[in-house]
Amino acid sequence: MTARELHKQLPIWPYKQRIIDTVTGNRITVIIGETGSGKTTQIAQMLYEAGFASEGLIGVTQPRRVAALTVARRVAEEMNCEVGQEVGYRVRFEERTSRRTRIVYLTDGTLLREMLDDPELSAYSVIVLDEAHERSLNTDVLFGILKNLVKARKKPFKLILTSATLDSAKFSSYFDDCPVLNIPGRQYNVQIVHSEDNHENDYVAAAVDTALDIHLHQPPGDILVFLTGQAEIDKAVKQLGEAIAELPEGSCSDLLILPLYAAMPLELQARVFAPPPEGCRRLIVATNIAETSITVDGVVYVVDPGKVKQKTYTPATGMESLQVVPISRVQATQRAGRAGRVCDGKCYRLYTTGFFENEMSEATVPEIQRTNMLTAVLYLKGLPLDIDVLAFDYLDSPGSEALEDALRQLFILDALDRDGHISDLGKRMAALPLEPSLARSLVAAADHVCLPDALTVAAMLSAETIFSGNRGPVQLLRNETDARGKMGALSEQARATLAEMMAEGLGDHILMLRLFQGWERSGFSPKWCKDLGLDVRGMHFAREVRKQLADLLAHAGPKVLPEESVACAKTIASGTKDSREAKRKRPSAGVDDLRRALLVGFANRLARRMPRHNGYKTLNERATLAQLHPATARIAADEDGLMPEFVIYYALVATAKVFLNKVCPMESEWVEDVLPKLRNIDVERLSGGVTTRKAAKRAAIAGQVTETAAARDLPAGVP
Ligand code: ADP
Ligand code: MG
Repeated sequence: MTARELHKQLPIWPYKQRIIDTVTGNRITVIIGETGSGKTTQIAQMLYEAGFASEGLIGVTQPRRVAALTVARRVAEEMNCEVGQEVGYRVRFEERTSRRTRIVYLTDGTLLREMLDDPELSAYSVIVLDEAHERSLNTDVLFGILKNLVKARKKPFKLILTSATLDSAKFSSYFDDCPVLNIPGRQYNVQIVHSEDNHENDYVAAAVDTALDIHLHQPPGDILVFLTGQAEIDKAVKQLGEAIAELPEGSCSDLLILPLYAAMPLELQARVFAPPPEGCRRLIVATNIAETSITVDGVVYVVDPGKVKQKTYTPATGMESLQVVPISRVQATQRAGRAGRVCDGKCYRLYTTGFFENEMSEATVPEIQRTNMLTAVLYLKGLPLDIDVLAFDYLDSPGSEALEDALRQLFILDALDRDGHISDLGKRMAALPLEPSLARSLVAAADHVCLPDALTVAAMLSAETIFSGNRGPVQLLRNETDARGKMGALSEQARATLAEMMAEGLGDHILMLRLFQGWERSGFSPKWCKDLGLDVRGMHFAREVRKQLADLLAHAGPKVLPEESVACAKTIASGTKDSREAKRKRPSAGVDDLRRALLVGFANRLARRMPRHNGYKTLNERATLAQLHPATARIAADEDGLMPEFVIYYALVATAKVFLNKVCPMESEWVEDVLPKLRNIDVERLSGGVTTRKAAKRAAIAGQVTETAAARDLPAGVP
């Protein structure tokens, strides 16, 4: 059967007419259906066939970049066209659409950014907010904006929310009592097997053992193992491979082990969709990506250690942590369900029934309540809707503390004026697909005429992997091999090159710059990257991002840049003079202007060294003590052996200790100019004068007891 014939057999297909009728008769529709029922790939096609794309595009958002790419590919195949024709995609730094395009898969962040230029989304007739259950930050922000747009827009506009599991009553009432369509899945029985013990630290080993046990003793059927990240998956895949190799010939059937995670190249990811060779069992070791956003057919056994990697941001300290935490019961149920798509299946939970019942929370805390709101608030402020971010109609509010933190930081970055209105600079920043600090640095660099270097740094920081095999420059210099043991130590010459770059002693951003420049001088040679332990793909991605950013700046022109920088952006975007320019410029060319531009952009992430000490204290509201991360590229100490007094950092991370991650030293006299801006920020005025703090104060004065965080923060002496 062709892909086209196959898709008509999906559980969603019998509901085609009901879906079309409901969407026709309502502005907003919620569609709930089991993962794999065909929501992501089919709904847009149904609407297209029913003529919904005649007046505008059908846009389908995805929280994950990779999902947008793979799904667009799949749907193009089903519709017998090339990606970029009737079906296309738009994600950050990459897009493939044309005039013929009717269906666009795009990330929720991309759609948000498109709204800055076109607040009415006039190019679209339908928006499907897909994977709504994931409750990604941008999707949550879009909930509120699109809910209003549906009412306000004159040109007809349909909003559809699709989800695997959802509190449908809560959703329907938030979306003005919209109808909810339930698509019953073809779910077989899944037998749940809990383990007798909980596996806190050894869950990877337990998962490997369980998977092997299934392979040796259970009837045919693919196995899906959930782990939390790339490093863990690589490790498990290696262990599994070794264990299988040690088994005597013929003791079990063939096993094909496939890793699956977001940072993997698309071609490799595509392997999980290819049918396995005859008589061969597949074992897929995946991140959470396989929980709902990618469906792997043929899975009969699921191994669930009950863990997920979760990023949490604490507005009070500006601290980020990436921790492995227990999943919620909703997630556990979702994972188990993956085993029952083709026949009766089994789910092995590596935790006890007691843990499931008593230790796991019912549902996952939505991202909006545990993340940095900086970018989201900049977008909200960038829309010409005069949105009061504190009083905005969120499905679940991020809370005033997180919002005030974002307002304060955006003010420090000059994106907002004292009254909390977006400034011209803020508009220029919002137009760039970068986080506000990097955007601010680029704009500052344009003014300082060091745009080419700033673009390089922004691009290198945007690439997910620069170094291959989980090693950083520090480990490489120390001659460490990578976790998988595949990549050996660097050659003497390569280490000397790296050591020379590090000798400059200006930290991570500048090392990134030097690496890129070195690669440029090599004529972008893949061998040069490999020799230095760099990830060729990651470097190419950075090069592409740099070009895209330059292109974007060149097109935005004087709206974003001063005149002379526009020409410079154009040159970089065209890619012509890059290498010649690089040859002219010696690596020792000064980077003071660049560092100053970084200081402007990262003024919200400054830290000061403690007196006579090598520890740092952040210069935000609540000073937090932190150390430079051990993987920080070398920073030169002064004559007394002390580190520079001021540094900017990319992230404040809490692991075993609190660390400043990715650091660049700053000269004290430059910082003096910035410091006054950090003091005496009137958050009340920034937030339009109606903060909870004020309300709490009023309540306190009236003798009422409030329990908000703001109330606890009231200065002593308030009655
Ligand atoms: P849902 O969004 O409801 O979870 P999808 O539309 O993503 O469902 O998937 C429907 C079916 O299409 C699944 O059986 C899935 O395996 C298949 N599918 C999805 N993407 C691809 C792909 N890139 N290649 C092959 N099959 C795919
Ligand atoms: Mg889906």
